[in-house]
Amino acid sequence: MSRVLSILGSTGSIGVNALHVVKNLNQELNVKYLSAHKNSQRLIEQAKEFRPDAVAVVDTVAAKEVQGALKSEAIEVLSGRDGLLELACRQDVDILVNGLVGSAGMEPTIKAIRAGVDVALSNKESLVMAGDIINSEKAVSGAKIFPVDSEHSAIWQCLIGENIGEVEKIILTGSGGPFRSRNISDFSSITVKDALNHPNWSMGQKITIDSATMMNKGLEVIEARWLFDISVEKIDIVIHPESIIHSMVEFVDGSVKAQLGVPDMKVPIQYALTYPNHAPATWEKLSLPEIGSLTFESPDLEKFPAIQLAFDALKKGGSCPAVLNVANEQAVYRFLKGDIHFTDIPKIIDQACQTMAFFEKPVLEDILSLELETTRFVQEFESQLKE
Ligand code: MG
Repeated sequence: MSRVLSILGSTGSIGVNALHVVKNLNQELNVKYLSAHKNSQRLIEQAKEFRPDAVAVVDTVAAKEVQGALKSEAIEVLSGRDGLLELACRQDVDILVNGLVGSAGMEPTIKAIRAGVDVALSNKESLVMAGDIINSEKAVSGAKIFPVDSEHSAIWQCLIGENIGEVEKIILTGSGGPFRSRNISDFSSITVKDALNHPNWSMGQKITIDSATMMNKGLEVIEARWLFDISVEKIDIVIHPESIIHSMVEFVDGSVKAQLGVPDMKVPIQYALTYPNHAPATWEKLSLPEIGSLTFESPDLEKFPAIQLAFDALKKGGSCPAVLNVANEQAVYRFLKGDIHFTDIPKIIDQACQTMAFFEKPVLEDILSLELETTRFVQEFESQLKE
C-alpha cells in the first residue's frame, strides 16, 4: 500500500503525531512535503530524518534559517504564506494531512481538494468556515476528506456499512475539559495556566483553550454537519469525562454504535492514513478492567455558553459559523496573552456574531474579507470587558 504524504503543520502536535505514525508504518508511507509556521529547528530535524522533496515555512525569518540549514540536502524550501499555499496545490501526493491551527488552515484544504488530493483533516476550522464551499469542491474534483478529529473518526468508523438515512442522531462525546466540575461563580478567576491543563488530551494551545470553553465541541458539531451531511437537529453532545468512547451513532431502531480507544491522536491519524485498513501499532491499547467505569452527563450550557453560540451559528447558517470561528480564535489569542478574562471569550464571540455582515451563501472572497473584519473587531473590542 505505499502512500505519498504531504504534512502541513508538521512541527505542531498533529504533525508530530503524524510523523510517529509514518515511523510506525515503516515503509508504507512516504513523506514528500512538510510545512511549519516558524519552528525552524524542529522542521530541520524532521527534514533530515524524513527526507521530503520540499518544505514550506510560513515565517520568512524562520524560512531563511531552514534554507541555510538544508542548503546541501537537495530539499526545496518554500517561504511565506504563498509557499504554504503552493505546497497545498501540489497534486503528486496521495494524501495531504492538514494539521494547521485555526482559520489559516482553510485555504490549504480548499486548494488540496480542488487539486483532487484527498485530505486527512485535523483542521476542523476549514469545515466550520467553509463547509459548503469545500463540499461543492469535493463534488467537482472527487477528492475525499478523511477525518482526523477523534470524534469524527469515531463517527466515520461507526457509519461504515451503514445507510446515513437510517441515522437517528450522531452523539459527539466530550470530556468536559478542565472546568467541568468547577463552580460557575469561580469562572471569572480562571487563569491561562488553569485553562491549558487538559485532563485527558495533550494538544496544542489553541485547541486546549477551545476544550476549556467547550467551543471545541461546538466547532465539532459544525464540522460533523458538513463531514457527514447531516442536519443540526440530528447532532447531540454528551459529556464523557474519561474520553474512552470517542463518539457514537444512534440508528432509527434505537441501536447505538460506539468507537472506543485510549485518548491518543495517533490512532485516528493512522486510521485516516490507512483507511479502509487498520494497521498494527505498538502504542498503548485500551484496558477496560483498568478503567473500571465510564460515566456520562449532559453538557452545562450555562457554564459553557460557547456550545449554544455554535449551535445558533450553525442554525443561522451562511457566513455565521465563519465569523464565530474567527472571533473565537482571536478571543482565544487575547486570553492567552492575558488581555481578557476567560469569561470574556464567549461574550466577544456573541458580539461579533451580532455585529458582522451576514452572507446567505458566501463565496471564498466573502469569507476572507469577513475574516479580516472579524479579526479587527475582536482585536479592538474593549467595551463591556472587565466588568
Ligand atoms: Mg476532537
